[in-house]
Amino acid sequence: MSIDVRWGSATHRGRIRDRNEDAVLAGPDVFAVADGMGGHAGGQVASALAVAHLAAIRGLADAEDPGSVVRHGLLGANRAIRERGATDPAVAGLGTTVAGIARTPDARVVVFHVGDSRVYRLRAGVLEQLTEDHSVVGELIRAGEISPAEARHHPHRSVVTRALGVVDAVDPVVRTVAVEVGDAFLVASDGLCNEVDDAALGAILGAPGTADERARRLVDAALDGGGRDNVSVVVVAVAGTRGGDHLDVDTTPSHHATAG
Ligand code: MG
Repeated sequence: MSIDVRWGSATHRGRIRDRNEDAVLAGPDVFAVADGMGGHAGGQVASALAVAHLAAIRGLADAEDPGSVVRHGLLGANRAIRERGATDPAVAGLGTTVAGIARTPDARVVVFHVGDSRVYRLRAGVLEQLTEDHSVVGELIRAGEISPAEARHHPHRSVVTRALGVVDAVDPVVRTVAVEVGDAFLVASDGLCNEVDDAALGAILGAPGTADERARRLVDAALDGGGRDNVSVVVVAVAGTRGGDHLDVDTTPSHHATAG
């Protein structure tokens, strides 16, 4: 049994930054955001390399272990970013977060991340964050020292503890989760999550509309919240299962596809 998904995406440089160092990958098999860092053009180069490697992943549709396929892609991206940093002084020190989901041959998705970009799942009106930020404030939250609300305004909220391009032995978090018809996944850079609280994220993600419309509304909410960073969003709605009961939650023909 495979899943039908509808997806949409949006990205914006925000109200303060003069360029957008985020990159977005919107399907058909992998959905991701990458949030680049580094001086000059380094951030843009790193995030673009990350999504290019994820877009080049093949074999998910018949993979016995789709998680290992995704992990391999992430390690390839890490190597490419490391090599670029070592050979191009103009982008030395580049790196990027990445987070996303990938389709599998069955009714599951691979959830992956490195850094503080996030994956959420909205199921039956309940928003759950599926990733744990690799960041200084993420560690402080897990240690019980600050609240998520305090983290959104913390002076070190952008300091990540894990990223692609920083060390050879990067350790991506990759796991596989079951999906249900009606689930909606949200993949986002910290420029969304630092401006919009979880209650608002869940309300916008669960509102009627196409995945594209919901992605744009989420970006608009981040801009309304201050837009202090680049903001990128991918929304993936599970519309049905192939051969099973079909429930349309989204009807965007141009963004429709069937897995495996
Ligand atoms: Mg950011």
